[in-house]
Amino acid sequence: QVNIKSVHNLTGTVLHTNLGRALWSPAAQQAALDAMQGNVALEYDLAAGERSHRDNYISDLLQQLTGAEAACVVNNNAAAVLLMLATFAQGKEVIISRGELIEIGGAFRIPDIMAQAGCELVEVGTTNRTHLKDYRNAINENTAFLMKVHSSNYQICGFTHSVDEQELAELGKEFSIPVITDLGSGALIDLKQFNLPEEPTVQEKLQQGLDLISFSGDKLLGGPQAGIIVGKKALIQQLQAHPLKRVLRCDKVTLAGLEATLRLYLQPEKITEKLTALHLLTQPVAQLQAQAEQLKVRLENRLNTDYLVAIEPSEAQVGSGSQPLARIPSVAVTIAPATEKMPTKTTALFARLLALPQPVIGRIERDKIWLDLRSLANLERLLNTLEAL
Ligand SMILES: *Cc1c(COP(=O)(O)O)cnc(C)c1O
Repeated sequence: QVNIKSVHNLTGTVLHTNLGRALWSPAAQQAALDAMQGNVALEYDLAAGERSHRDNYISDLLQQLTGAEAACVVNNNAAAVLLMLATFAQGKEVIISRGELIEIGGAFRIPDIMAQAGCELVEVGTTNRTHLKDYRNAINENTAFLMKVHSSNYQICGFTHSVDEQELAELGKEFSIPVITDLGSGALIDLKQFNLPEEPTVQEKLQQGLDLISFSGDKLLGGPQAGIIVGKKALIQQLQAHPLKRVLRCDKVTLAGLEATLRLYLQPEKITEKLTALHLLTQPVAQLQAQAEQLKVRLENRLNTDYLVAIEPSEAQVGSGSQPLARIPSVAVTIAPATEKMPTKTTALFARLLALPQPVIGRIERDKIWLDLRSLANLERLLNTLEAL
């Protein structure tokens, strides 16, 4: 038994950073297992019988999926941003809107990453409003990049203005300065078709003329932890040649899992069935309701009359800073103390759920435990685990 225990995620947050973000699809798990168990043609071109580059497979697939000229893969998106800045902007200036100086959590702050990469942050505009002329006025011969950062985990609303990627890309072309963006989650398909909150896609950002785009592998993409940079071939080649790339590169297991994940996008009509993260996010409420009924029966069976078990509508979230305000319709089993409000009974049961052989993690809200079914990977296993309650 390891201490990084397998847990049941009933928090209602599907891509939960503290619980390891996206679950790997069965296809990705198999590819990773094969890579772990034996040798793989990681940096070997089987057609030519000679050495090749470990990012080639991913680069070819992303070219096919997004139309990007090339791609580069590193450990995570934070590393991707660091690599872009260190490669092109060391000792130079990067222009960014004051409304996009984000902190993601875990000490990922854009100003700090800029400092680490040895570049100078040039803030333009104000917190709520930034105009094209603000960028234009800040450009000088020492400007390395114009940069956009997707405000994944917060929203600025009201009297606001920001410059969209297309306008910024045109300004960049006028001065021959690359325009880059940290897209955060980086969806590869339109999520609106599944009634999920809208998230910009990598393809649409490329069409808007951006030179480099970075995004995570384990957020909405639904694969292993990785940072992916797509864009202009000449720029990607420079990223590949930087010494930091060697420091930040991915191992064979991650690359195998990522390749298998991306391959699922070649068959978009099957994606919600095959890609676990999207499968969870798109489960119909009626299906969650049926699961909730089974869970309720099992809990009533295990708990004494001190507790009241019920099924209630709930609101789930994507997680990982994607779409912080959006809620996805869901269903939860709630557990409340039977006699008036007794918060200690609730916290005591919450602790018991966490102490199970495979811990059950829900959330406490309004003096009740909420077990949200939207984020649950395996009902059968959960029902088995609860035998020990
Ligand atoms: C999540 C996120 C990051 C960090 O990505 P990791 O893959 O966790 O390193 C960086 N920028 C934005 C905008 C994000 O949403």
